[in-house]
Amino acid sequence: NHGIGSWTARRARRTPHRPAVIHEGVQLTYAELHDRTTRLAHHLRHLGVRPGDRVAFLGPNHPSFLETLFAAGQLGAIFVPLNTRLAEPELRHCLTDSGASVLVHTPAFEAFAVTSDVPRRVAVDTGLDQALAACPSTPIDIRVTHADTAMIMYTSGTTGRAKGAVLTHGNLVWNSVNTLVDGEFAAGDVALLSAPLFHTAALNMTCLPTVLKGGTLVLEESFSPARTLDLVERLRVTVMFGVPAMFQQIAAEPRFAEADLSSVRMMLCGGAPVPEALIRTYRRRGLDFIQGYGMTEASPGVCLLDAEHALDKSGSAGLPHFFDDVRIVDPAGHDSSRGELLVEGPNVMSGYWNLPDETAAALHDGWFRSGDIARTDDDGYVTIVDRAKDMIISGGENIYPAEIENLLYEHPAVGDCAVIGVPDESWGEVPRAVVVLASDATASAEDILASLEGRLARYKIPKSLVLTDALPRTGAGKLIKSRIREKFGTPS
Ligand code: ATP
Ligand code: MG
Repeated sequence: NHGIGSWTARRARRTPHRPAVIHEGVQLTYAELHDRTTRLAHHLRHLGVRPGDRVAFLGPNHPSFLETLFAAGQLGAIFVPLNTRLAEPELRHCLTDSGASVLVHTPAFEAFAVTSDVPRRVAVDTGLDQALAACPSTPIDIRVTHADTAMIMYTSGTTGRAKGAVLTHGNLVWNSVNTLVDGEFAAGDVALLSAPLFHTAALNMTCLPTVLKGGTLVLEESFSPARTLDLVERLRVTVMFGVPAMFQQIAAEPRFAEADLSSVRMMLCGGAPVPEALIRTYRRRGLDFIQGYGMTEASPGVCLLDAEHALDKSGSAGLPHFFDDVRIVDPAGHDSSRGELLVEGPNVMSGYWNLPDETAAALHDGWFRSGDIARTDDDGYVTIVDRAKDMIISGGENIYPAEIENLLYEHPAVGDCAVIGVPDESWGEVPRAVVVLASDATASAEDILASLEGRLARYKIPKSLVLTDALPRTGAGKLIKSRIREKFGTPS
């Protein structure tokens, strides 16, 4: 077995006594993780799981998440992590679409699991512990190669219905290699994971590389900035992972300035560029960010901005990973300094599950179309401009909402905002801002728009601004533009 299902055995041979997982104060060594994983693999095989079958997992960050992942790998089965924040019909779609034959779930999801149509269910409870105690502890020997599928991971569904990205063992191994080459993981790391493992970045950029190096994973079921500071001090955490909003909340803790952060060696941040002010806040505490850009389909790492360049290349997504190549192309497919970013590398998925048309549209000769608009500078650093789907075309000019949103955020009365295109008779489309005022702030639409004068080309300044109470965001904090367009996109 050359897949990730062999990792617990390889690790248990090298570092059996080192802690692999700490969850709610309970610790599992690598030997224990391997033993539990192997027994679970036997249990799943008893339930009928064969190579290529799909095994879904529904639950928070919990040791059973990793045990199911590695047990599926040991069996040559395909792991399907499910997003616990999805509504029930969305969860049902993922289960039906993937054709999962077993659903492993934590007790909190019992009610949903009972009503799901999955042939077999495994509840993670004391009953399972008893069943595992009766299972053999000799690893199951099944041939698994890098070409075999390891995981179907659903995209975040920011631009439409979530799609199942089919990731092979090779994809995951190479993503880990890229992360280890370009990141700063070390043996003996203690990595704190309070971002959900069902998202690609927490699982594939932080959890798997940590396991490869024999580090310790501290699993948190939910994120609390205050508890994060406590854990960093108590467990001498060396690696932190999160999206910018999480690091923002940690920095806003009253205790942030005095907390002992001396153990932290690497702060990995992804999903969006880290604002410059936040980079400076952490630098005052002696800490720098490593920033990642990627997507579920690339397992996910595409570019990384190292800590050293955090400020002089701020706003950039960094350089392509060591074993990735990127191209930027215009709509005709010619190389261009600004356009859609394509990525090619051993971490790029084999396709979308059950979606041949989407797969054909997204993959050409190994190059994956990211759907993101990017540009590069003379040093080859990539900057993500916006999503192609969100681009507004006004009088033949391309307008990228993110550029306008970034300036709107600088207005003190703006708490949250989104810029969308609305149909316009003379220009085709014109930009409209949708703004949520900061708490206690008062400002008129005219005041806010006036703050953009002289800072943006005239055609980029929104022609209208609508105030609202809240904007729809995904669990990971991304604006759901399609819903904002539905609600606020009709011409006034
Ligand atoms: P869907 O594909 O279902 O619409 P999604 O694209 O949001 O959802 P993910 O794979 O979780 O699903 O997110 C990848 C996307 O997130 C990228 O294509 C890009 O638009 C955005 N992104 C990720 N990292 C960064 C970053 N560092 N800077 C800017 N954008 C980023
Ligand atoms: Mg996407």
